[in-house]
Amino acid sequence: MITKPKGTYDLTGVNGKIYTYLSNEFMAYMNNYNYEFIRTPIFEASELFHRTVGEGTDIVTKETYDFKDRGERDITLRPEGTAGVVRSLIENKLYGNRNDSIKLYYNGTMYRYERPQAGRYREFIQFGVEVFNSNDVMSDAEVISLGYYFLSDLGLDITVKINSLGDAQSRVDYTNALVDYFKPHINELCSDCQKRLETNPLRIIDCKVDKDKDIIKNAPNISDYLSQESKDRFEKLKSYLNFLEINYEVDESIVRGLDYYDENVWEYVLESDSLALGGGGRYNHLVKNLGGPDMPAVGFALGIDRVILKLLDIIDVRKLDNAVDVYIMAVSEEEKIQALRLAQNLRLNNIITEINDNGLSLKSQFKAADNNHAKFLFILNDDDLQKGLINVKDNVTKEEIKISEDEIVDWIMGNI
Ligand code: AMP
Repeated sequence: MITKPKGTYDLTGVNGKIYTYLSNEFMAYMNNYNYEFIRTPIFEASELFHRTVGEGTDIVTKETYDFKDRGERDITLRPEGTAGVVRSLIENKLYGNRNDSIKLYYNGTMYRYERPQAGRYREFIQFGVEVFNSNDVMSDAEVISLGYYFLSDLGLDITVKINSLGDAQSRVDYTNALVDYFKPHINELCSDCQKRLETNPLRIIDCKVDKDKDIIKNAPNISDYLSQESKDRFEKLKSYLNFLEINYEVDESIVRGLDYYDENVWEYVLESDSLALGGGGRYNHLVKNLGGPDMPAVGFALGIDRVILKLLDIIDVRKLDNAVDVYIMAVSEEEKIQALRLAQNLRLNNIITEINDNGLSLKSQFKAADNNHAKFLFILNDDDLQKGLINVKDNVTKEEIKISEDEIVDWIMGNI
């Protein structure tokens, strides 16, 4: 038997239903917030991720799926969604001559060669949004609130952990301060952080291995290195979040794992067990760094596999069942032909319809109708059909009634 690759899973059954529900909900949110859908390739030129996510990040140094294609090109399976969206924005000049903001969303699989565990996979799903062309803190607040309310409305208790990484100069100053501070203590850090001191000192601050050590707790704080403008932006964000009644807290260990972020950043964390369900931030220099115009941006990505796992505990999955409006029961050849015709007519009128399409006995058809949570049964018989009538049974009250075929669509629509 051929089995699935390590770190992947098949989205089936209840998990699949929750995924479909989440996709539809997210799409409805995106509609209300006036975002436009974008799909970019699952694989891109490797260079894209080296230049965006960053050479020294864990994702690029340890986790990407890199390969050469048959044309000897260096290809990488996308580890995140933002880089591809920015590449597309630039390549297709999606900004045109607009000076209003460009709001995009995606839903797709990402690939990271991580050690698999519950909620951590090598192929995983993210829903994400990106807003280009606005440098106003109002758009940070709008984007944060969108993710917050999407997750909260699902019944999850969310805290948004916010931080500011400051502008480019603040980041350089803070990074230098971290290097000066950690260098004399290098032996107290885990082996990964010893490397990070060279490649990505900021990440030492959110290391999961070292996090409880005094050396980390006493490290310089980013807030002492922010420019006045960055501080003002952060204060403004807080006032907007207060106004929007968003449950947030400042957490200076939120540095995000990717190089492109600056200014305000955040993570959506589940209150009960601190699991990170998503994160985002501003990335005002990425579009320009990739050869596009000088265009500010802000966005987030949500880890949908983790959301599904958490919803399994709290959601009433029966609500997600696609209850069938009508189950058409047919036995004879004539009844089967009429069933096909009737089903087509109902389906084209948006009535969810199922038919006996594998020759079940009448008794098994009643069971099948129940399995499908059918609201009405059409129990076809040749006599009624010849008179243009359909024998309809309400599957809850068990009442039966004969309805003329000409009126059947209207009757069902009026009763479901
Ligand atoms: P990131 O792109 O690293 O900021 O991740 C955003 C969110 O995606 C995280 O908060 C997780 O919920 C989710 N995520 C990241 N990596 C994985 C993974 N390997 N498996 C499942 N979910 C992930």
